[in-house]
Amino acid sequence: MTDNKNKLIVITGASSGFGELMAKQFSSEGYPLLLLARRKEKMESFNLPNTLVRQVDVVDYAAFEKAVREAEAHFGLKTDLLVNNAGVMMLNKLVDQDPNEWKTMIDVNVTGVLNGCKIVIKDMLARNTGTIINISSIAGRKLFGNHSVYCGTKFGVHAITEGLREEVSQSNVRVSVLAPGAAETELLGHTTNESIIQGYNQWKDTMGGKSMDPQHVANCCKFIYQMPQEVCIRELDIAPTKQG
Ligand code: NDP
Repeated sequence: MTDNKNKLIVITGASSGFGELMAKQFSSEGYPLLLLARRKEKMESFNLPNTLVRQVDVVDYAAFEKAVREAEAHFGLKTDLLVNNAGVMMLNKLVDQDPNEWKTMIDVNVTGVLNGCKIVIKDMLARNTGTIINISSIAGRKLFGNHSVYCGTKFGVHAITEGLREEVSQSNVRVSVLAPGAAETELLGHTTNESIIQGYNQWKDTMGGKSMDPQHVANCCKFIYQMPQEVCIRELDIAPTKQG
């Protein structure tokens, strides 16, 4: 606990879902935090101690980097953990989808992750320590109906994470992918096609009408991070037992 206060954690997409729970859990263990998302008031409403909140769109490299550097100066610490968690899921068939929707998914889910990695990796290598956890999905290994572009972005997150981990594998910097299955968050709310939303909810019925409690995913993130620095969990998949 005493050491935790010297480890700065940056979490993107911290205004709801997994990111919110990760923030609350890490904060309860005494870590200083930088929380990033577009809904600033929501993050402020958590009222977490030793926490900076910045309204940042992860697609905007300059704004993302500025917030990280500000937090590092504010706390007098370099980033020890970055969780690239921000993401959007707009399910549809490619033939029916508005190209603006797939652009948003590629921008947030892929470019946002790349931006985060680039912003922290050099200092981590210079310090020869640090951890990046990229949130992908079971849909980053397996295809599902109406998921063509979303799966494309999450397969990309797996590939980018593995590629970066290989690049830095001579160092003590860890790069991990955490891949959840269906969990109860706001994620489905990004999908605009009503019949696909209904279909997704019917699919959830096959898992007993409810998907996973998102707290389990936050717990996995903490587990990956708190392994000894010389141990890297390269990939952790977690899903409801009844999910296909
Ligand atoms: P939520 O919709 O609850 O959270 C998504 C978060 O991303 C929000 O905090 C949102 O904040 C943030 N966000 C979206 N766009 C941007 C942006 N451009 N810049 C900064 N932040 C952004 O869903 P989850 O918690 O479920 O999603 C978190 C991650 O988990 C995502 O990467 C998702 O793909 C992944 N995932 C989720 C699963 C699930 O079943 N829930 C399963 C597998 C993976 P704001 O709107 O305030 O910017």
